Amino acid sequence: MRLDNRFVFAAALLVVLSNQLVALEPIPEKLVVLTFDDSVRSHFTVVRPILQKYDFGATFFVTEGFDFPTNKQDYMTWEQIAQLHKDGFEIGNHTRDHMGVTAKDLPKLKEQLEGIAIRCEEHGIPRPTSFAFPGNAIDEGGLPILREHGIRFARRGGAPEYPYERGRGSAYEPGLDHPLLIPSAGDARPDWEMDDFTNAVAQAQRGRIAVLQFHGVPDNAHPWVHTQPDKFEAYMRYLALGGFRVIAMRDLEKYVDWDVTPQKYDGVIKDRQQAIANHTSRDNYRWANDRDKSRAWLENMAVYHRFSTSEICSATGLPAAKVEQLLTDFQLVDQPYPTHQADEPLTVLPYPGGRHPRLS
Ligand SMILES: [Zn+2]
Repeated sequence: MRLDNRFVFAAALLVVLSNQLVALEPIPEKLVVLTFDDSVRSHFTVVRPILQKYDFGATFFVTEGFDFPTNKQDYMTWEQIAQLHKDGFEIGNHTRDHMGVTAKDLPKLKEQLEGIAIRCEEHGIPRPTSFAFPGNAIDEGGLPILREHGIRFARRGGAPEYPYERGRGSAYEPGLDHPLLIPSAGDARPDWEMDDFTNAVAQAQRGRIAVLQFHGVPDNAHPWVHTQPDKFEAYMRYLALGGFRVIAMRDLEKYVDWDVTPQKYDGVIKDRQQAIANHTSRDNYRWANDRDKSRAWLENMAVYHRFSTSEICSATGLPAAKVEQLLTDFQLVDQPYPTHQADEPLTVLPYPGGRHPRLS
């Protein structure tokens, strides 16, 4: 018991220190990251004006693979890519040759990343800090190489939790997903209908973030991942009318500490696979049924355990606006941590939501 308490206290200290260094904003509901792969020309001609109309952020993951150097009917020029950067969009790294991150090709990954980083510098674009896995191939051995190269966030596909074909996926769960293995909540396909899109973005709640993967709009060179322009326009209108916050991958830094990684890179992937196989939900939350209990639980989470709003949402199932209203009503906002004298008995409080304990 004594050992347990010491361990919990040490864990608490680490988290408090890391939070003090980076003042993160609570993850809002309806947070969507838009990403576009493969340097497709329609990113400039079709996607850019639509995103500008709605004032949406986005990341364009560029590569010189396929026949990028010679086919300017289907691929952007570097001048167009530079213009996307000047417009305020993020340019991300998708390797020079669209090389899959597989065990066999790991020795080439550094050079492949550098190939794009140098091109960016030549065109006045900052060295990318976001990455997308080409062909959605992932290998654990690539993670330290990406980190050494200065990559903070990296996006994969919806696999292995979901099969590639339908483009389904899971929302990003910061703290559980490795920041270099962020799943796509949806990976647009030519036969997608509005429901496929709305199901993907509906996952953006209770601290989860929907990261969407698109290719060309249209995509003549990669027809299996093509999106029709009128469908794309309807998707974006849905986000705008629905009050979604639409950002680039690098903007995740406001909400997520990219330096915090889970102990097992694939722990949450296995949990999801099991839940999908068993047809069960991974949601695990409940809320008190009266006012006194509500206040006590909120005080426990917000004051004693210093939960963020999104963590309270995950534990209670309440929307962020409701949590913030209750914290204000109960006068629990910005309360100092309760003092504790050395000779007082230890306070033992439950830790809602089943997260890793972090306070004594
Ligand atoms: Zn690609």
